[in-house]
Amino acid sequence: MSLLPLPSAVHAPGSYRFRSSLGQHLLVVPHSQIYDLPEQETDADADADTDASLDHVLSQMLAHTLHNEASLDSLSLPTVQSLSLNVSSSCNLGCSYCYASQGNFEGKQSKGMDWEQARSSIDRLLAEANPQAPLTLGFIGGEPFVNRALIHQCVHYSAALAREQHLDLRYSVTTNGTLLRPEDHELLRQHRFAVTVSIDGGSVVQNRQRPMLNGKRDSFAAVIEHCQPLLDTPGMCKLAARATANSLSLDLDQQFDAIAALGFQDIGFSPLRSGSALALQDQDWPVYELAMVSLASRELQRALQGQQIRLSNFATALKQLHVGASSPYPCGAGGGYFSVASNGDWYACHRAIGEETYKLGDRHALDAPKRLQFLQERHVHAQTDCQTCWARYLCSGGCHQEKASRSVASCNYIRRWLTFCLQSYCELSQARPDYFTHCLPSPRASTPA
Ligand code: SF4
Ligand code: SF4
Repeated sequence: MSLLPLPSAVHAPGSYRFRSSLGQHLLVVPHSQIYDLPEQETDADADADTDASLDHVLSQMLAHTLHNEASLDSLSLPTVQSLSLNVSSSCNLGCSYCYASQGNFEGKQSKGMDWEQARSSIDRLLAEANPQAPLTLGFIGGEPFVNRALIHQCVHYSAALAREQHLDLRYSVTTNGTLLRPEDHELLRQHRFAVTVSIDGGSVVQNRQRPMLNGKRDSFAAVIEHCQPLLDTPGMCKLAARATANSLSLDLDQQFDAIAALGFQDIGFSPLRSGSALALQDQDWPVYELAMVSLASRELQRALQGQQIRLSNFATALKQLHVGASSPYPCGAGGGYFSVASNGDWYACHRAIGEETYKLGDRHALDAPKRLQFLQERHVHAQTDCQTCWARYLCSGGCHQEKASRSVASCNYIRRWLTFCLQSYCELSQARPDYFTHCLPSPRASTPA
């Protein structure tokens, strides 16, 4: 099996010059290093050709891969450290844009997972992962808590094994939050769970976009009723809210404030890009950009006054810039992350259950040549659109599932958003360096695939 490197394109930009309220800066693209540049005294001093050659020389000098960093050209088959189990194939909500057709993936996953499939997946994760690194066991669906008994069984079983084997095992679940019961709250509180609650905003937006299937009550009231005890007393779990922004819901300030009023301190937005008539179109991206920058500017002011940033898209981008995060992949799909379908097949991504190109193994083993080909084809150096983009190791080409919806407008949004994050990073790190003390320190650390 060949693991040939995938070098970047000859004309790939090595640097990106930007300006903040503090002056001029240079992003050295490989390994995301940020440097201050001397200020030009007058506009007449500015010479675009000289600047470009200076930036080229600087980026050539500074863009080395350190001994503790993964090469951005390399291909590898890392150990699987994170696994999500499709425990349920149904849901009690009827969200219009659901990528999973309520969990049955258009009939490709007709039933939920049973204990035997779950147990053998857990055994393999624990046996084959790198025991020195953290492991994550996730639960997904449909709505995972439709199959709550299996979640409880999996957590108790895996926690006991991890204790015996001295493994750092964590958990994650993505839920609509409307079915949580007191026994679930206790399970989540007592383990290191990352709980992501999908909620789109206040009652009007939430009930319109995420209606209950039985129509008996509104889903916003159900989220409040079933999540409030956990928001009040989270124990060991970390709660986050994720909202989907579509072409009809771009008043992000209003949606964010309604979710924050429930007590969520970690709130993120995902723009809907495909699979629905409500997906953002080219004309929507500038509107979305304005809304995100307005919201993030509010959060930046909070941070400058000593508070935490609650908008997770922004907080995560700032932390990544601080540690020099830089990756040729947007996520761990097919690398360190897999999703197990209810029949035991291993898919590179939970959104691709039933898709042959994403099926890279079964309950017995992974198909190494197919996995290598999957990773080769999705490396950012293999993406024609991305090869010459300065944002290629921060955006990494975006979600593989959404590649077909990539457009000039959506890429312009990404680059402008990242520019705003770069400017904010320079300003915040100067005004409040303590904001980053809990992050890994610079110098640089690469994000593995
Ligand atoms: S998806 Fe667009 S913004 Fe992202 S790296 Fe590719 S070209 Fe750049
Ligand atoms: S391919 Fe997209 S949906 Fe799948 S794990 Fe990666 S980012 Fe997430």
